[in-house]
Amino acid sequence: MNRQPPVLEVRGLTTEFKGRKTAVTVVDQIDFTVHKGETLGIVGESGCGKSVTSLSIMRLLGKNGKVVAGSVLFEGKETLQLEEREMRSIRGNRLAMIFQEPMTSLNPVLTIGRQIGEVLQLHTSLGQEERKRRAIELIAQVGIPRAHEIYGEYPHRLSGGMRQRVMIAMAMACRPQLLIADEPTTALDVTIQAQMLGLIREMKQEAGMSVMLITHDLGVVAEMCDRVLVMYAGQVIESADVRTLLRSPKHPYTKGLIRSVPHHSRGEKRLYAIAGNVPSPGEWPVGCRFAPRCTEAMPVCYQQSPELKNMPDGSSCRCWLHDAEGRDIP
Ligand code: SF4
Repeated sequence: MNRQPPVLEVRGLTTEFKGRKTAVTVVDQIDFTVHKGETLGIVGESGCGKSVTSLSIMRLLGKNGKVVAGSVLFEGKETLQLEEREMRSIRGNRLAMIFQEPMTSLNPVLTIGRQIGEVLQLHTSLGQEERKRRAIELIAQVGIPRAHEIYGEYPHRLSGGMRQRVMIAMAMACRPQLLIADEPTTALDVTIQAQMLGLIREMKQEAGMSVMLITHDLGVVAEMCDRVLVMYAGQVIESADVRTLLRSPKHPYTKGLIRSVPHHSRGEKRLYAIAGNVPSPGEWPVGCRFAPRCTEAMPVCYQQSPELKNMPDGSSCRCWLHDAEGRDIP
């Protein structure tokens, strides 16, 4: 049990996107908490609602998306009710985000220094010279050599790994309380990926911030996270502390995800893959949404949707195989 106070409390969050004819639910009544200093992983395959969850929290859904129900308390404040102006003062300041592809969030026509400087100008009272000094300091802090020179460079002159470091520098500029990192290392090669994760961990320890890490990679989860939330078809289907989840997963989907991770010692010739695909929003089946892909499905699974049940070991699971006391149903 985490005794640190919560930084983020999400309750009943439901997000819809405009479809061709009707609105389509993409995130369906999800609940979770991120405590101070903790790293929460959100895992699942593409299309399960992980990224829309983070964009809903940041209120960056664009004109086609809308949070239609629920509550997002950040540092005790209901952010869904804030004016856009108030939200802007939190975003990039107390609450920061880094994305998978930094080119989508870096402005190609502004120098690195100018972009970090703008974050500092928006959220701090630092003067021009101090902003420049701080920006160079931040560039050096994220491990970019020749920080003075890079300050005046444009994003396209940097490698993918360097651009991701710049994104981290921008996110850390105002020492956020919560960093949301959406697949921050997916586009990078393994060595750079390891460096980037090390950097996020270092920054987290230094600043005492919390991290919400969105990933499809259970290796990254094992290395970085304290607790994990597994999402499938817009719902949370299992949550647990990282050890419990990786050692004794309860939900057949989580078991499948863990089995899909390459493991040298198993000596498997072919890598295991969960058959089928995540159903698209708007095409979620009746009953358990995982039933068409589940090797343990029973008749009830195709008729009734299982609730997310709290288990005695502190985890929770949405599956007819487990009753509310955490016992396996034979
Ligand atoms: Fe499989 Fe049924 Fe559990 Fe769904 S509820 S994961 S179909 S056993």
